[in-house]
Amino acid sequence: MKKLTEFLTIRRLVQIGFTLTTILIGIQFSIFVHQLQSGAEHVISRPPGVEAFLPLSALMSLKYWLLSGNFPMVHPSSLILLVIIILTAVLLKRGFCSWVCPFGLLTEFLNKIHVWIFGKPRRVWRWLDYPLRSLKYLLFLYCAWAILVQMNVPALEAFIYSSYNKVADIKMLQFFVHASPLTIKVLVALVLLSILVRNFWCRYLCPYGAMLGALSWLSPFKIRRNADTCIDCQECTEVCPANINVHTPKTVLSDECHSCLQCVEVCPVADTLTLSAPKRKWPIKPVVYGAIIVGMFLLTSLGARLFGVWQNNISIQEYRYHIERLHQYDHFRGKATQK
Ligand code: SF4
Ligand code: SF4
Repeated sequence: MKKLTEFLTIRRLVQIGFTLTTILIGIQFSIFVHQLQSGAEHVISRPPGVEAFLPLSALMSLKYWLLSGNFPMVHPSSLILLVIIILTAVLLKRGFCSWVCPFGLLTEFLNKIHVWIFGKPRRVWRWLDYPLRSLKYLLFLYCAWAILVQMNVPALEAFIYSSYNKVADIKMLQFFVHASPLTIKVLVALVLLSILVRNFWCRYLCPYGAMLGALSWLSPFKIRRNADTCIDCQECTEVCPANINVHTPKTVLSDECHSCLQCVEVCPVADTLTLSAPKRKWPIKPVVYGAIIVGMFLLTSLGARLFGVWQNNISIQEYRYHIERLHQYDHFRGKATQK
C-alpha cells in the first residue's frame, strides 16, 4: 500500500500541475479578452493553450489539413493537442485521462466525496451501466458524423476561417462568464451526479473519453496478468476506479481502463500485473509511463513553439473587429428577444 500511496502522490502532483496551468491559462485569457473589450492597452498576450477547449474546431482542422495539405493557423495549438492526444491513445491508451486532463482530477476529487458519503464506492447496476456508457459514444459519433462524414473541404474551409470560429474561444469564455440560469443548473446537476455516481462525467458523458476509449483498443499496451504467479488476492480489482474485474482475465480489454495503473502498483507479487505489450513484453513501470505521457505533451508544445505553429496568426486589430461584430450581434439579438 505504501508503494501505491507514493505513486498516487506523484500522479496527483502531475495532475495538479496540469490543472494549475489550465487555470493560469484561463486567467491570462480572461485578461486578454478584457483588454480587447475595453480597448485598453494590449499588455497581456493571448495564451494559445486555451485552444485545448476547442476540440470540435480541432477535429475540423485535422480533417481539413489531411485532405487539403494546408495547416490552418486559426487555432493551431488545438489541432496539435488533438493530434498528440490521439497519438498517446493509439500508442499508450488513455494516459491523457489519468495524468493530464483537469476534469480527470476533478472527477477523482468528487469520487472522494462519494466515498466519504457512502463509506465505500457504489457500483451502478450493470443493466443501467451499459446503456449509460453508450451515451458518450452517441455524443462522439454524432460529432464525428457531422464533421468527418458531412463536411467536405470547402465547408471545412468556410467554417475554419469564419469569424465565428476565429473568436470561438472568446465566445466560450463569455458562455461561462455570463452563464445563463440553465447553464448553472446543468453544471450543478453534473457535479451532484458525479458525487452520487462515481466517474459520472468521464464514464457516461465525455465525448473525448469515448474517442480515447475507442482508440485505446489499438494500443499494443494493455494491463496483463501472469496467471501463474497471481495469488488471487483481488487487490487490483478493489482499487480499480473503473470497476473492472482486473483479477480474472489475463488481459484487461476495456475501453473504461484509463491507465491510472493503480492496479499495477497495488499488486503484491512482483511482475504479476504489468502494463505491457503482447506476451507481457516491454513492461512499462507506472512512473515511467507517467513520465512518457507528460514528456510527450511538453515536448510537443515546445516543438510547436519552436516551429512557430503554436500561436495563431490572428492580429489584435482583427480580434477587435470580430469583438465589435460580436457586440453588435448580441445587441441586435437582445433587442429581437425583447420584442
Ligand atoms: S484496470 Fe488498472 S489501470 Fe485500468 S482503470 Fe483499472 S486500476 Fe486503472
Ligand atoms: S493484485 Fe496481483 S496477485 Fe492480487 S489478484 Fe491482482 S494480479 Fe493477482
